[in-house]
Amino acid sequence: MTDHLAKFAPAAPLGVLPRAPLRLSCVVPAHNEEANLEGFLRALVQAVQALTPDFEIVVVNDGSRDGTHDVAVRLAQELPLRYIALSRNFGKEAALSAGVDHARGNAVLLIDADFQHPLEMLPQMHSLWQSGYDMVYGVIADRGAESGTKRVGTNVFYRLMNAGNRVKIPPNAGDFRWMDRQVVDALKALPERNRFMKGLYAWVGFKTVALPFVPLDRAGGESSFNLWRLFSLAMQGLTSFSTLPLRVWSVVGGLIALVALLYGVVITVDTAINGADLAGWPTLAAGIMLFSGVQLMSIGILGEYIGRIYEEVKQRPTYLVARDEDHSPLSDKRGSKQP
Ligand code: UDP
Ligand code: MG
Repeated sequence: MTDHLAKFAPAAPLGVLPRAPLRLSCVVPAHNEEANLEGFLRALVQAVQALTPDFEIVVVNDGSRDGTHDVAVRLAQELPLRYIALSRNFGKEAALSAGVDHARGNAVLLIDADFQHPLEMLPQMHSLWQSGYDMVYGVIADRGAESGTKRVGTNVFYRLMNAGNRVKIPPNAGDFRWMDRQVVDALKALPERNRFMKGLYAWVGFKTVALPFVPLDRAGGESSFNLWRLFSLAMQGLTSFSTLPLRVWSVVGGLIALVALLYGVVITVDTAINGADLAGWPTLAAGIMLFSGVQLMSIGILGEYIGRIYEEVKQRPTYLVARDEDHSPLSDKRGSKQP
C-alpha cells in the first residue's frame, strides 16, 4: 500500500470469527451500456463462479436510451440476474443505491459495466473479506490516461473535501468495492436523499482496506461523466460532507472587514492631515468590485447548501423502479424472495 493511503487503512484485520460461506450480490449500474453489457455480464459470471456458486447479479438500468434494456431482459432469462429498471436516469449514485437496496447476498460487490474495474481483482477482494475486512475498495493508482484538467480537478476536490473534516475520504477511491452485509445495512440505514456514495462509504467506517488498481480502458460506448457532471458531483460531495466552504467565508469576511477598518483609519488620518481631494476613485472602484464579487460568491455557496436542504426536506425517494425482474437464486434471510 502506498504511503498516502496508510492513514486511511486500519492497522490490522479483525481476523476473529470465520465468515459464513459467501453469497455474493454483484451490483452493476448501467447507463447506455448496450455495447458492453452482455460481454461484461458473461465475464462477471465466470469470474464470480470461481469464488462461489451462490451469487446474483443486480443490474440497474439507469434510464438508458439505447438497447441496454433489451440486452438485460434477454440475459435475465439465462443468467442469475435481478434486473431493476429505474423510471428515468437518476445518476450513478442513485443507481448504486437501488442496486444495494435490492441485493440479498451476505457480501455486495459494486462494479462498473464498462470493464474498467478489473475482474482479476475479485479473488483478492474475496480473501480480504474472508480475513476480516468489512470493506475492500479499489483505489485508482494511476490516472495517467486522464486529461490534465480532470486530474487537477480531482486533486483540488479531495484537498477541499478532507480539509479539517473528521471523516476523511480516501483520495481516488472509486465505486469499485466489496462490502460486507454489515456495511450494506449501515449504508441503507442512512436517511439522506442525496447519496454522495464516496462520502457515505467513508462515513460508515468499519474495517476497510484499499487495493490500488489501474483502471482499464472503457471497452465500448462512452463515459457518462463530462467535466460539468464531475463538477456537479464534486459540489454535491463538498456540500453534503463538509461545512468548510461556509466557514471559509466567515474567515475571508472577517479578514476583509479588518483590512477595511485599517484602511478607514488611514484615510481618516490622511484627510485630517492633507485635506480632501478627489483622488482615490480607482481604489473605490476596485474595492466595490472585489467586495461585490466576494459577496456574490458567498451567497452562491449559501445557495448550494440551501439547495441541498431543499432536496432533503422534499423527502422524495432517491430513485423510482419501473421494472423489477427477479431471476436471482438468492433469497433473503426470511427465505422469501421479497426484499
Ligand atoms: N452510470 C449510471 N448512471 C449514470 C452514469 C453512469 O448508472 O447516470 C454507470 C455506467 O453505466 C457505468 C458506471 O456508472 O457502469 C460508470 O460510468 P462511466 O463509465 O460513464 O464513468 P467513468 O468511468 O468515466 O467515471
Ligand atoms: Mg467508466
